[in-house]
Amino acid sequence: MVTAAKVELPRMLVEGPEVPRMLAQLHPLELPRRTVDVLVIGGGVAGLSAAIAASETRDTLVLLKGARGDTATSWAQGGMAAVLGDDDSPDLHVKDTLTVASGLGDASITETVVRGGPDVVGRWLSWGGRFDRTDNDRLLLAREGGHSVSRIIHAGDQTGAEIQRLLIARSASMPRLSVLESTFVLDLITDGPVVRGAIAWAPRQGFFSVWAGATILCTGGVGQLYRETTNPGVASGDGIAMAYRAGATLRGMEFVQFHPTVLYVAGMSRFLVSETARGEGGVLRDRTGYRFMPEYHPDAELAPRDVVSRAIVRQLAKVHDTHVYLDMTHLPADRIRQRFPVIYRACLDFGIDMTKDQIPVHPACHYMVGGVRTDELGRTALENLYACGEVASTGLHGANRMGSNSLLEGAVMGHKAGEHAAAAVRKPEMRADGFTFGSRSYAGDLDLQDLDNAVRALMWRLVGIERDGPGLDSACSRLQTWNHLVSQRVFGDPQGWVLVNKLLVGWLIARSAGKRLETRGTHYRRDYDALDDAHWRRDLEVRRPERA
Ligand SMILES: Cc1cc2nc3c(=O)[nH]c(=O)nc-3n(C[C@H](O)[C@H](O)[C@H](O)COP(=O)(O)OP(=O)(O)OC[C@H]3O[C@@H](n4cnc5c(N)ncnc54)[C@H](O)[C@@H]3O)c2cc1C
Repeated sequence: MVTAAKVELPRMLVEGPEVPRMLAQLHPLELPRRTVDVLVIGGGVAGLSAAIAASETRDTLVLLKGARGDTATSWAQGGMAAVLGDDDSPDLHVKDTLTVASGLGDASITETVVRGGPDVVGRWLSWGGRFDRTDNDRLLLAREGGHSVSRIIHAGDQTGAEIQRLLIARSASMPRLSVLESTFVLDLITDGPVVRGAIAWAPRQGFFSVWAGATILCTGGVGQLYRETTNPGVASGDGIAMAYRAGATLRGMEFVQFHPTVLYVAGMSRFLVSETARGEGGVLRDRTGYRFMPEYHPDAELAPRDVVSRAIVRQLAKVHDTHVYLDMTHLPADRIRQRFPVIYRACLDFGIDMTKDQIPVHPACHYMVGGVRTDELGRTALENLYACGEVASTGLHGANRMGSNSLLEGAVMGHKAGEHAAAAVRKPEMRADGFTFGSRSYAGDLDLQDLDNAVRALMWRLVGIERDGPGLDSACSRLQTWNHLVSQRVFGDPQGWVLVNKLLVGWLIARSAGKRLETRGTHYRRDYDALDDAHWRRDLEVRRPERA
């Protein structure tokens, strides 16, 4: 394989808002403290891969705001891409990934991640991972949109649950690894440009500081910013918000991926109908029975996700409806039940037998493409701070993520960051600066649920699948006003902190989306509906303003 030369795209800085340095009015040196070599924030595929690697040689602590397994990782269905097939090659996987990344993918990172895939699979199999196999006991590989060959390993439609099970079991066997559940991390502790750990809160203990030689941020995505989402409750952008407040560089915040097919039953929580359902031959129809996708893209239902999501939105406008239908009724019933047991059961709960009935579906927010900028080892712009998984922007996805590449990225980069952090780590130092506080009032008079609903509705309507300048300006000014309102308050528990984080991250997404005056990858502008390489083949970065 040819090793790709490192080519950096030009960068443009989007000035972010001035926000209080910390969510709570606390000085880290005045809190009860713990020390550890490596602190990992988050326990999905990225966090546990990092923690397992780091704890081979270092004492490692993982903090989770929910329970073990309460992650997007557990919810992943389709599978993980890896170059394993006889008809596949790293070059082909790199090429497919860069094509979907729409001109902003980093070839060198892509190669690193792709090359790491077979090692991850080998490791997981040696730890007892159970994935679907062919009759002659080879791993069974599926195909998804964007991939030119079958390369997705899977465990029925519960691949993420199997990966999460495996990583939890492995981490439990590591003597130098400990995990604290229900522990909310509010902010990173900084000492100039150096990260020295984090401030956390747990219901019984209250606030405490963790001082660490290296900190690895693995807090996942932002789906909970949107009214329609496939993501679990933990995905509220906390890691992006805390990295921003600490002074890290963010990249590609305008790129948010929407999944085209989420089970749409009014009033029910949204359940993802995996892309592999289309890979296996499912077709999309509107309420008149018309199969519309061939009209929008030569690959029809196997077109990239953003294309399918937009096509659905447009078709819905044409036929004045709220959802379209995924039709799998022409496929053998046994195959459907065997390949999609969880989706089959979930649909049955709503009285839909997908072997006989068409499934009502609608797009929803699915994946945060942008995030905390890192290099090929997961290092951020701040010393001793790494970021991996969905919270990070490594450059693999560019402007759009190819399905099944995110578990791969989390596993490969998590492992790399864990190994590197463990090798590079120095003794934790208890020094912190920049923690001065203005006066803030308590939040008693704010209806947090109401504000949260308003943010999610606004993001869906104005910063969603299709965007335009006036809508983004209006979203920015609303989010700025709300940001101002909440940043004057002090909140005493996670509900308030999460809302502050969402408002900040929503504002950063809207602001970046307003700056990018073209359509690229997941970012579709009605008012600039063409790709503009001459002006916009560049990275948009966001950083908090330097303080005087
Ligand atoms: C329904 C669904 C299906 C998907 N299917 C696929 C698929 O088939 N293939 C694929 O490649 N990708 C898929 N994805 C995407 C993929 O699952 C995620 O991108 C990936 O699992 C993210 O892993 P992560 O480790 O970065 O974060 P997560 O797995 O989301 O873990 C985040 C962790 O951070 C912790 N955390 C967050 N904030 C805080 C805080 N403030 N304090 C302490 N802890 C915190 C959480 O408690 C959690 O442990 C899917 C996603 C969804 C939602």
